[in-house]
Amino acid sequence: MEENNRSFSTTDWLWMILLGFLISGWFFPTVGIIAIICMIAPVLYGLLKGGRFWCGTFCPRGSFLAKIIGPLSQKGRIPAFIASSLFRYGLLVFLFFNFGWGIYQAAGNTEMVGKVFIQIILVTTLLGIAMGIKYQPRTWCTVCPMGTLTTAASKTRAYLRKPLTRKTGRILGTHTTRLRQAPVFPQQKSKQSGGNRQNKE
Ligand code: SF4
Repeated sequence: MEENNRSFSTTDWLWMILLGFLISGWFFPTVGIIAIICMIAPVLYGLLKGGRFWCGTFCPRGSFLAKIIGPLSQKGRIPAFIASSLFRYGLLVFLFFNFGWGIYQAAGNTEMVGKVFIQIILVTTLLGIAMGIKYQPRTWCTVCPMGTLTTAASKTRAYLRKPLTRKTGRILGTHTTRLRQAPVFPQQKSKQSGGNRQNKE
């Protein structure tokens, strides 16, 4: 009898949240405001704990790209310019400008604000699907503004911790610098072979 040793993974089902969010948000735009949780959480986690654990474990879109787009992906090589800082930060500024402008125009109307969230998440998800099919399933995660901010937060945390660790080391007569590794997609790592650029930062 075949034994099923496969461990439970949150990415197996979290993608349903993204679909539920987009469908319900289409009819009830105010729902879109909930997305703020998924925007703040990875960055906050990166700042407090370091790394991109949230991205690899709890993000519904990351789950969607891995589980649903993964089997459809041509697994092509990600062009170098996509992973470049210029592209990533350019996209971040562009999307946040549009986001801010939309919120400004909503003038406090919660339904309009929710609509801004839904529209941006829908457009970026469609972009992520196209990139995921053409290149690696989670290519979007290479350029995702929240992923970029999470990496920046993680690096900031590591930088801020360095002097403290050195100082403590001097006092104790020893010196160790323990920095957390940046970006990881645990499920991805275990399921895909190396060479996937989306895991690099
Ligand atoms: S990089 Fe963006 S889309 Fe990818 S898992 Fe992180 S927050 Fe989600």
